[in-house]
Amino acid sequence: MTDLALEPKPTPLALLLLGRNADPDSEKGVECPGSLPPASDPDLVQRAAAAKARLGDRVFILGHHYQRNEVIEFADVTGDSFKLAQQAAAHPEAEYIVFCGVHFMAESADILTSDSQQVVLPDMAAGCSMADMAEISQVEECWRVLQEAGVAEVTVPVTYMNSTAAIKAFTGRNGGSVCTSSNAKASLEWAFAKGEKVLFLPDQHLGRNTAVLELGLSLDDCVIYNPRLPGGGLTTDQLRAAKMILWRGHCSVHARFTAKSIQDVREQVPGVQVIVHPECTYEVVSAADAIGSTEVIISTITNAEPGSTWAIGTELNLVQRLAQDHPDKQIVFLEKSVCFCATMNRIDLPHLVWALESLADGNLVNQITVDPDTAHWARVALDRMLALPGPTHRAD
Ligand code: SF4
Repeated sequence: MTDLALEPKPTPLALLLLGRNADPDSEKGVECPGSLPPASDPDLVQRAAAAKARLGDRVFILGHHYQRNEVIEFADVTGDSFKLAQQAAAHPEAEYIVFCGVHFMAESADILTSDSQQVVLPDMAAGCSMADMAEISQVEECWRVLQEAGVAEVTVPVTYMNSTAAIKAFTGRNGGSVCTSSNAKASLEWAFAKGEKVLFLPDQHLGRNTAVLELGLSLDDCVIYNPRLPGGGLTTDQLRAAKMILWRGHCSVHARFTAKSIQDVREQVPGVQVIVHPECTYEVVSAADAIGSTEVIISTITNAEPGSTWAIGTELNLVQRLAQDHPDKQIVFLEKSVCFCATMNRIDLPHLVWALESLADGNLVNQITVDPDTAHWARVALDRMLALPGPTHRAD
């Protein structure tokens, strides 16, 4: 990565605060039932390797692209959330799937793996703020609002992969589908062939960007349902006129990139090409040169001309890794004020060591399970997505 003023200055103190028992606002809880090794333990790397070796084929470690390098080093496979869930299912010999990612991803892995496999999240506090913005009771209330407005029957729910299993199950029960950032267009086309409107959960930006920039709808075709307001803050007439009903959710990392940053980077770095994730705002993706999921960003940078210059708008751990892996290209982080995904960063080496040593000692810790009914309907929604035509199914 260049030494430009554009390079972010992460705050070590803020990250230190993300450890155990430090976030009373977390919806997932932050306690670990055992004793974590101290982060200062000089033997952590050796301990992780030893515990992994003791477990052998009984464990398969998944590492999301946004994870820290110290964790990625021990991953058997890296990828986006959907690829990782598929990889878990493709390794039935592994008794334990250790998911270095966030809660909704581990839920998806549990849904897609067999009953004999146990999915473990090294830190239960690793939730996703976007997924937490759509609680099942709020979504059910929204559906009642749509029923009262007389539009539920012509509305197809589509949920982004980055949602809880309960929301995926709601979608499955009500005739809808899951989508990823790579197949959102195909999912919306499928949904509009089935109904007149789409309720898009939980990321308003992916929904708006796809509907307007890829399907040719207008911004006026989109309304935002705010679960904190009565009736979502919308009138019956607004609901009846809308084509896209966007849930008022966003990614707390990607929504912070700004169009001003793109303007600044173009002024400061001659010839720079800007690539951003579709969870960024409409203004940001409209100003960028390219839009892509994490896998698309990785392949774009990998295949880019040596000597080319890129400003990337996605999670910082991934951007730093791309800069490190591609020294022949100049790579800058798009936004000074954006930092790591706080919840992704909760999985650190001490938590990974603790999880692996516990499993090697015969103690199943931090297991993520989805109840059978929820898993069934979530699977229905996932299978509808898998039946869609089009490109690979890539996620966050
Ligand atoms: S980057 Fe955004 S969507 Fe992904 S886990 Fe973090 S908060 Fe959730």
